[in-house]
Amino acid sequence: MADFDLVILGGGSGGYACALRASQLGLKVVLIEKEKLGGTCLHRGCIPTKALLHAGEIADNTRHASEFGVKAEFHSIDMAGVNSYKDGVISKLHKGLQGLVKSRNVTYVEGAGKLVSKNTVEVNGERYTGKNVVLATGSYAKSLPGLELDGTQVMTSDHAMHLNYVPKSVIVLGGGVIGCEFASVWKSFGSEVTIIEALPHLIALEDESSSKQLERAFRKRGINFELGTKFKSVAKTNSGVTVTLEDGKTFNAELLLVAVGRGPVSANLGYEEQGIKMDRGYIIVDEKCRTNVPGIWAVGDLIPTLQLAHVGFAEGILVAEEIAGLNPRAINYDGVPRVTYSEPEVASVGLTTAAAKAKGFDVVELNYDLAGNGKAQILKTAGSIKLVSAKNGPVLGIHMVGSRVGELLAEAQLIFNWQADAFDVAPLIHAHPTLSEAMGEAHLALAGKPLHAHG
Ligand SMILES: Cc1cc2nc3c(=O)[nH]c(=O)nc-3n(C[C@H](O)[C@H](O)[C@H](O)COP(=O)(O)OP(=O)(O)OC[C@H]3O[C@@H](n4cnc5c(N)ncnc54)[C@H](O)[C@@H]3O)c2cc1C
Repeated sequence: MADFDLVILGGGSGGYACALRASQLGLKVVLIEKEKLGGTCLHRGCIPTKALLHAGEIADNTRHASEFGVKAEFHSIDMAGVNSYKDGVISKLHKGLQGLVKSRNVTYVEGAGKLVSKNTVEVNGERYTGKNVVLATGSYAKSLPGLELDGTQVMTSDHAMHLNYVPKSVIVLGGGVIGCEFASVWKSFGSEVTIIEALPHLIALEDESSSKQLERAFRKRGINFELGTKFKSVAKTNSGVTVTLEDGKTFNAELLLVAVGRGPVSANLGYEEQGIKMDRGYIIVDEKCRTNVPGIWAVGDLIPTLQLAHVGFAEGILVAEEIAGLNPRAINYDGVPRVTYSEPEVASVGLTTAAAKAKGFDVVELNYDLAGNGKAQILKTAGSIKLVSAKNGPVLGIHMVGSRVGELLAEAQLIFNWQADAFDVAPLIHAHPTLSEAMGEAHLALAGKPLHAHG
C-alpha cells in the first residue's frame, strides 16, 4: 500500500513547488532532499548571482556617481562584506522556505534518495512508497573533455559563488547566460574579463539583435570576448591559467570559470533500471511531465525544457494539479520569460525573428530605441525594445536590452501569452516617466502611430 500520494525526489524549484501545491490540494506528500531545501536556485544559482550583480551595480553606480552630480569615491570591493550580504539573503529565504514546507504539512526527509521500484524511493535505508513519484533531481555544472575542475583556478559557478577575493583577471569559458552574468559581476568588481564562446554570438539563444547589443555594451564596458572559436586546452601556471584556443590564440588569467552548460543529475539513481525513457541523461516526458512509466513524473532541469527556476515551479505545479485531477493546461514554453541579469540586462519572451520566420509567419519587426525614453535617459542606459509581430496579427516575440528591462517582462509576457496585437496594446496608458512607457511606445509605433519616435 502506498504511504503517500506523492514521493518527490529533490527539493529544488521543481520539487518543492510540486510539494507545496500538492499539499495545498490535500495530497499527502514526502519531499526528499540530500542537501539544502531550495536547491540550485536558492543556494548556488539565481539568488546568489543576483545578489552579486546587485553589489556590482552599486560599485558601478559609485564609480559613476559624479555623472549624476553626486560626490562619492569607489575604494574597493570587500568580498567578505559582499558574501555576508549575499548569504544573508539566502539564509532568510531558506528559513522562510523551510517554514513554508513545514506549515503545509509536507513530510521532509533529509538524505540522498534512490528509485528502487516504480513507486518507491529509498533514503537512509528507509523506503517511501507513493501512488506517484516525482523526479526533480535537477542539474550540475558541466565541463569539457580534458578540462579538469579544481575549484580554485579552474572552477564552475558553484565555486565562483563562494570566492573570497576579487580576481585580477578571469577567463569565462562560455558566453551563455551564466557566463555573461559572471563576466558582468567581475567587471563591476574590477577584474579584467575575457569571455570565450564557440558560437558566433554571446547569449546565442536570444534574438541576434539582443546578442549584438549586449556585445556592444560589453565592449563599451571593457569586457573582452572571443566569438566563434573553440577552447582547446588549459594549462595551470604559477600565476593562474593559460587557455589555448583551437585557432592557436592564448589567454592568461588568474582563474578560469567554466560555464559551458548544465547537465541532468540522473546517473545511478535507479531511473534506467525502472525503464524510464531517457536521452543524454535527460528524462523524456510528455506535455504533462509524465514519463513513459505510469505514476512516475519528472520536472525541472532534469527534463529537456528551459533550465529556469520559474519553469521548474510551473512544471512542479502542473504535475501536482494533474495528479489532483484538475487537468491543468500544458505549458507553452515559448511564453516563458527569460532574463540575462548582466549590465545591461537582456530580456525576452516569445519567438526570435529567425524562429518566427522558420514557423512560416509573415514577420514584421519594430525596434524602439530607449534613447527616446525619459527614464532610460535618467538612468543613463542604452538599449531597445524589439517587437516581432505577425503581419496584421499578434505579437510573436518581445526582445529587450537595457538596465532593468527584466522588470518589463511582466507586461511583455501578458502581451505574448494573451496573443495581443499592436492595436490591443497601443491604447493602454503607461505611467510617465517609466521604462514601461517604451513598451507602450513600441506598440504605438507598430500600430502606425508613433509618439516619441523619430523616423
Ligand atoms: C549560476 C546560476 C544562476 C542561475 N540563475 C537563474 C536565474 O536568474 N533565474 C532562473 O530562473 N534560473 C536560474 N538558474 C537556473 C535555476 O537555478 C534552475 O533552473 C533551477 O534551480 C532548477 O530547479 P530543479 O528543481 O530542477 O533543480 P535543482 O534546483 O538543482 O534542485 C534539485 C535538487 O535535488 C537534490 N537532489 C539531487 N539528487 C538527489 C538525490 N539522489 N536525493 C535527494 N536529493 C537529490 C539536489 O540536492 C537539489 O537540491 C541559475 C542556475 C545557475 C547555476
